[in-house]
Amino acid sequence: MPIEFAQRTRRIPSYPLAAGYDLGDEVAMLASNETPFAPTAEVAEAIARAVAGANRYPDPSYWALRQAISERYDVPPGRIALGNGSADILLAAGEALLEPGAELVYAWPSFSVYEHLPAASGARAIRVPLDEHARHNLGAIAAEVTAATRLVLICNPNNPTSTAVDLDAVQALLERVPRHVCVVLDEAYCEFSLTLGDPQASVELLRGWPNVVILRTFSKVYGLAGLRVGYGLCGSEEFRVAVEQVRQPFYVNAVAQAGAAEALRHQDEIERRVVATIAARTEIAQRTRALGLWVAETDANFIWVALDERAEAWAVRDGHGVDSRAEALAAFERHVVQGLRERRVVVRAGSALGRTGSLRVTTGTDDENERYLSALATLV
Ligand SMILES: *Cc1c(COP(=O)(O)O)cnc(C)c1O
Repeated sequence: MPIEFAQRTRRIPSYPLAAGYDLGDEVAMLASNETPFAPTAEVAEAIARAVAGANRYPDPSYWALRQAISERYDVPPGRIALGNGSADILLAAGEALLEPGAELVYAWPSFSVYEHLPAASGARAIRVPLDEHARHNLGAIAAEVTAATRLVLICNPNNPTSTAVDLDAVQALLERVPRHVCVVLDEAYCEFSLTLGDPQASVELLRGWPNVVILRTFSKVYGLAGLRVGYGLCGSEEFRVAVEQVRQPFYVNAVAQAGAAEALRHQDEIERRVVATIAARTEIAQRTRALGLWVAETDANFIWVALDERAEAWAVRDGHGVDSRAEALAAFERHVVQGLRERRVVVRAGSALGRTGSLRVTTGTDDENERYLSALATLV
């Protein structure tokens, strides 16, 4: 007899896992929005020191890391939530805020993890389509807030579409949302965003809105995706207390705490990475457009490509026998993703992210970007 699991296990989607780990070395891994830059020597040393003390449990107060984040953003340590990646804080927020009868509102397509929240809690998700520029439609999101709403998620810049909305628009949304509704601004890519400007700018919103939580991560520009550390800058302590209540006490391991605190001390390195990434994204966006494809305006370390313009021509020319536009698009996406993979370039298919007929391509090293561009040129 099979084991009997809880109902919700039938609803919770499986996270679209990145592929390519079976391809061995010399693969351009452009599917997970990581940075191609390895940890600096100082960060690697801090990690090694922490490893040497791994017989001890981690500091359960997270003092050094909390202090480092507090100093950088001028937010009191008690208003900093930490997690095993910011995805951990998101899932904990779902557990702390949602239940059957409650509602949450978010744009779609947006971050895949959001889909877990309604499925795990039984709350109702309201997904608001992006506008024709693949940007958040904040007015439409505000209009979906009801008496049942507990949580609004704004992914800015948005994953997977790379677009950002400015802080005036975010502020206008906050003015329309009641103060008992938690608004999470998921800013995993804010450091790359010229629309948002300085990463400190959105933090100022916390002064006026105690219901706001700004989620950030060490997985993207800080280059520590493998360690799993994220944080939330909170408008009030209540959110931090609630997400701690629903998790085990040790949600960030000792090695990760040490690496993250050290990484924060090297803002010159972060600045260099941002400059290099902006140059790389501009290059791959322009040259992808030159192949006749639509690419969203990017504020992140990745680009979002619509394959529509080329799909039908490809289906007709190569006689793939597909009957509809939708089928042609899906077949063309498979052709491109598979063709790139055969050329040892791994990108993310839009069909796994909420819009079939798209690609999400992370900026890599110059060499990896060139490999992506030349492989794509042979495929479209
Ligand atoms: C990558 C990402 C995160 C962060 O994930 P971690 O769990 O911190 O690695 C959060 N939100 C979005 C939108 C992301 O793309």
